Amino acid sequence: MEKQAVQRAREAFLAGRSRPLEFRVQQLKSLQRMITDRQGEIATALKQDINRVSVKHTVVVHYMELFYLELKRVLLGTQKGSTWNSKGMNKVDCNVLYLKAYIQPEPLGVVLIIGAWNYPWALTLQPLVGAIAAGNAAVVKPSELSEYSASLLKALLPRYLDQELYPVVCGGVSETQELLRQRFDHVFYTGNSTVGKLVMEAAARHLTPVTLELGGKSPCYIDKDVDLRVACRRITWGKFVNCGQTCIAPDYILCEPSIQNRVVEGIRQTLLEFYGPDPKSSPDYGRIINQRHFNRLMTLLEGYTATVGGQSDSSQRYIAPTVVKDVPPQARLMQEEIFGPLLPIVTVSDIDDAIHFINEREKPLALYVFSSNKKVIKRMLAETTSGGVTVNDVIMHYTLNSLPFGGVGQSGTGRYHGKHTFDQFSHHRACLVKSLGMEDVNMVRYPPQNRQKARR
Ligand code: NAD
Repeated sequence: MEKQAVQRAREAFLAGRSRPLEFRVQQLKSLQRMITDRQGEIATALKQDINRVSVKHTVVVHYMELFYLELKRVLLGTQKGSTWNSKGMNKVDCNVLYLKAYIQPEPLGVVLIIGAWNYPWALTLQPLVGAIAAGNAAVVKPSELSEYSASLLKALLPRYLDQELYPVVCGGVSETQELLRQRFDHVFYTGNSTVGKLVMEAAARHLTPVTLELGGKSPCYIDKDVDLRVACRRITWGKFVNCGQTCIAPDYILCEPSIQNRVVEGIRQTLLEFYGPDPKSSPDYGRIINQRHFNRLMTLLEGYTATVGGQSDSSQRYIAPTVVKDVPPQARLMQEEIFGPLLPIVTVSDIDDAIHFINEREKPLALYVFSSNKKVIKRMLAETTSGGVTVNDVIMHYTLNSLPFGGVGQSGTGRYHGKHTFDQFSHHRACLVKSLGMEDVNMVRYPPQNRQKARR
């Protein structure tokens, strides 16, 4: 089944079906229509999977618009200021020696997109948009954990897109592993780093390049020189949206002991504003994806007294927005990515201590710094590393298509969003086109080197 889907996609790719720019634009438009037409069904699936009020797909629509407008501009020949010229090329050089040098982005072939469950639509469709725009065939494997979204995607995609070029394969570990035994031209994986290693290993057997969009513990440093009201509001939103199940949610807070209690109070007050006195009954507050993750989070919390929240209800997979203060660096809560609504606060003595703390650990996917002090911001940016960083807010670097999104080290490899997705799914072929004239110029490189060359 998996094998056949890959074979059919390869045949369709080799027949050249995915290459014409007009076809790519038409497919992207159709995909956009799917998202607009089926908004209601998508929202219901998200609600069933993760109790989410759907907003994220609007980002995907915007993202698709960007791609097809760009390709349309190319097709219509109004490419002024556009990224690609009329042949899909980036012109590099051209000179009087009848020589033309340019970079031609080419499709890679058949790519595999493996999505995660926490944003099941965005994490499959955003890479798919780039794969289509770049002229590839793509096999899409949504996460089995967000099962309603996965089966809806499988039902919808063939109604809007070429069925052979863009098949959806559903299933869990065994289906994904069967897919990974096939030969692809690129594998784009989103998920945890343990599976990321398996994906890289499987891809290495075919020398297939990979993009790994992984996770990790993203720190959030709050300087004492800051408007704490604003900082706490922004952090609270980013931590508890989607019930903390966001790869770039702030994982933990670092701050000096002198401001810790005010940070706690700021978050408590914001939670009240966002979700009311009982977050469990708020339509804006989510649930944990499944029982396994619920149990994992409850185990992480064992032995701590929550400063804010701490309540849970296993029957609904509900965990209240929870803050734990004075968490020791060696605590269990600080050993693995939390990926849920638990927010530990670790105190540091000053910015040096905070920088040291961050650099002692794996390179994070995101880093957040809240400060009004330019020197503090400058030092944090200069003396740490992370996949991306937002200063004085959280998550927002993800939303800019101009910025590449991805991890570094353990938090991932490769990048996407906007033009970066197109690049990730393209081979940048170096092209040099010469004329057969002006042969004299070439004589110098022909043997014999030490004899006078005969003129031809
Ligand atoms: P998941 O369980 O949905 O797994 C992701 C995909 O891997 C699924 O399609 C699944 O079928 C497949 N898979 C699972 N086990 C496998 C195995 N043994 N062999 C082959 N394939 C397998 O998602 P998850 O891993 O729980 O996702 C959460 C993680 O993903 C977090 O670490 C989070 O930070 C990260 N994440 C990263 C991004 C990003 O953009 N960087 C986005 C979302 C999530």
